[in-house]
Amino acid sequence: MKRFIRMPSPIFFHENLVNEKTWDRYKRKIIEVLEEQSFNECVYCESKIGISGLATIGHYYPKSQFPDLAYSWDNLLLLCQACSAFKRDSFPVDENSSPLLIDPFAEDPSFHISFDEETGLYTGLSEKGNATISVFNLNRPNLVAKRKEDQLLMMIAERYPQIDTDLNIESVFGEFTQNISNITLMMDNKYDIKILDRFINNMLYANVITAMETYLSNIFIKSLIKNEKYLRSFVESYPKYSKGESIDQENTQKFKLSEVFKVYDKITEIVIDEVMSVMYHNLKKVKPMFKATFDVDFPNDMGEVYKAVEIRHDIVHRNGYTKIDKKTKTATQHEITKSEIKTLIEKVNGFISVVNGQMIIR
Ligand SMILES: [Zn+2]
Repeated sequence: MKRFIRMPSPIFFHENLVNEKTWDRYKRKIIEVLEEQSFNECVYCESKIGISGLATIGHYYPKSQFPDLAYSWDNLLLLCQACSAFKRDSFPVDENSSPLLIDPFAEDPSFHISFDEETGLYTGLSEKGNATISVFNLNRPNLVAKRKEDQLLMMIAERYPQIDTDLNIESVFGEFTQNISNITLMMDNKYDIKILDRFINNMLYANVITAMETYLSNIFIKSLIKNEKYLRSFVESYPKYSKGESIDQENTQKFKLSEVFKVYDKITEIVIDEVMSVMYHNLKKVKPMFKATFDVDFPNDMGEVYKAVEIRHDIVHRNGYTKIDKKTKTATQHEITKSEIKTLIEKVNGFISVVNGQMIIR
């Protein structure tokens, strides 16, 4: 469970326009505002409304016991059908008659419920947490499975940023066929001009980053091979080599002194394998490599280039969409303009000129 923020009451709640008689007329509008307020999520189980079921309007204080609050905006919340059915008129209270259901608009549920990342299970940390879990049956198997899956996806997203974890499995193939169909339409000159424009702009934008990446990898690898001094600086400074990890696939990081020349003979080969595997658009990794190996500094104002590398990632790995925003739960499509491409070219040009200026004077 998580905390939500209550939106101001919609205008039609003012002057008591919403009441028993007008309820049906306003119901749809109320749901729309509630959906916006909790990002289309059931406020108790966080199920996506619309995907796993229809939205229902829930009452924190049940209508049967608190008829005065039946049409009060602050008492309404978005529930999925399952949570609505589990709750019905339940409203447990403690010995002082204080409500025992967590109000996700008034308090932080994490004080009352803990989440086990391994099992996906919720555990009550207080009487309130236990009551809420039990009333809404928050450990129902499909929710537990979903929480475990989300946890795994978060881990994958952290470790393998190139995988689009936002994409649900049903749309993976759909996205592929959409891409192929766009390419076919363009080949046959039957394209939609807007799609073509977006496609070309995205491609040009990504290609600026590719050009930068190609320069960085070529200059790095060629300078390394040409000058043994740099090879040595690289080997002695590369973090992986000093951590005692394997220096090649055969795990020969430990060798007898009698083998030192054998390893030395292979050092260029070992290093080339390593530097070829580096993603040269990963500037945060590449920057210290250039500094330690060649004593080359990257310019300070690299913010826009870093940002552009992320956008290129969206273009290449997410079909031009941003990551899903945690708050709004939506992804937006990049609309790259020609002027943005020009700005990027200037930035990348400036960056590479600074690096090249330092590389060639040595
Ligand atoms: Zn629910």
